[in-house]
Amino acid sequence: MDWQRLPKQNFVGQFFRRIREVRPGSMPDVVMIGGGVIGLSLAYELAGQGVQCAVLDQSAIGQESSWAGAGILPPGDSAHAATPEARLRAASHSLWPQWSERLLSETGIDNGYRRCGGLEVRLQGPPDELDAEIARWRDEGVEAVPLSWREAWFCEPGLAPGLTAAYRLPQMGQVRNPRHLKALIAACTQRGVTLLPGNPAWGFERSGERILAVQTTTGKIAAGQFVVTSGAWSGRLLAQAGCPVAIRPLRGQIVLFAAEPCPLKQVINVGPRYLVPRGDGRVLVGATEEDAGFDKRTTAGGIGGLIAFGLELCPALAAATVERTWAGLRPQSADGLPYLGLVPQTENLFVATGHFRAGLQLSPITAVTLAQRLTGRPTTVPLEPYAVDRHPQPLEFPEITIQGSN
Ligand SMILES: Cc1cc2nc3c(=O)[nH]c(=O)nc-3n(C[C@H](O)[C@H](O)[C@H](O)COP(=O)(O)OP(=O)(O)OC[C@H]3O[C@@H](n4cnc5c(N)ncnc54)[C@H](O)[C@@H]3O)c2cc1C
Repeated sequence: MDWQRLPKQNFVGQFFRRIREVRPGSMPDVVMIGGGVIGLSLAYELAGQGVQCAVLDQSAIGQESSWAGAGILPPGDSAHAATPEARLRAASHSLWPQWSERLLSETGIDNGYRRCGGLEVRLQGPPDELDAEIARWRDEGVEAVPLSWREAWFCEPGLAPGLTAAYRLPQMGQVRNPRHLKALIAACTQRGVTLLPGNPAWGFERSGERILAVQTTTGKIAAGQFVVTSGAWSGRLLAQAGCPVAIRPLRGQIVLFAAEPCPLKQVINVGPRYLVPRGDGRVLVGATEEDAGFDKRTTAGGIGGLIAFGLELCPALAAATVERTWAGLRPQSADGLPYLGLVPQTENLFVATGHFRAGLQLSPITAVTLAQRLTGRPTTVPLEPYAVDRHPQPLEFPEITIQGSN
């Protein structure tokens, strides 16, 4: 059968009608376990194809890592992307404008998505320090413009003078996470997705390789298919299904400044740390990387280090007020790539987790490809590099580079 030529809506409808015939009643076709950006985006995509979805969460929907993130959306180009990371990033990059427009037209909520551009800069080091990075972007087909410090300063006069190296990525984007989540929740509700906050899942009821129900502290929920979208908590739940996936929570702290006028226009990156100006005078400064278990508190060292970093890079922030600080738990896999696909030794348990520092940027393509996989269609991006069993031996987690105290 030529899957590509089948009308999408019809095919998906038929696929789930067949499942409902053997599984009558009002149970959902698919349950997402975890209501962060990944679970919500997947439910939104599936529901748009007529699939009955439920999203359950152990606490409130959309309040964990996905809320806490900075919303930086780096560019990519599918025609040239050569690595598994670049292929997902590029495919997602092209989906962001249409997803944002669609969410706006369906819900009236503007998620703040915009192609604001970004600078990568260094305050010290040799002038050629960023040349290899610029070459990598260009190999990927992404526009990267080398800048002298004067040119960088002309682009962003709020930056400290005397940068030693800089380049610009005009296609860099950003989204305002809380607004995007609000839009997804509203759109899911409109598309008939059942949202079940306050439902911690702790295990599965199964018959051989078939998962019959997810067990939660408030009862069990039966469905045709299940997807673990539990972010940093996914390892615990997958272990219950006999699938030892190494995912750890990596804490990231953020400081939110309110500045009037806003001293920056673009995202400013210094390696893994950054300043993200929103359109309304707010500037996010992030982020730490800390192995602190499931502790989401901020620390004096973490917040102090970020404030010092922000002021060194953008002295004009000295006059800004510190509006808020917070921390979130990134779901880190040992190789930094997400896990996407079927859990081995099961026929209907899937996983979409481990997006680490890129869960916002990769959420549209994760939703699109997982929805294709769940409905038995070919995927836009081949999923083999993201398979749950891609490492024959467990990998070590990499060393943490940005501790909370610097
Ligand atoms: C400080 C910081 C900055 C970041 N900046 C960026 C950025 O600029 N760009 C970017 O793309 N990404 C960024 N990220 C990463 C991004 O936020 C994450 O990769 C993404 O949010 C992961 O989404 P998720 O849905 O998998 O996880 P989450 O948002 O954490 O959602 C998982 C959900 O599952 C629920 N859950 C867990 N266990 C269970 C259970 N047993 N039963 C029921 N529910 C359960 C949780 O309550 C939670 O709501 C950042 C993260 C942090 C912390």
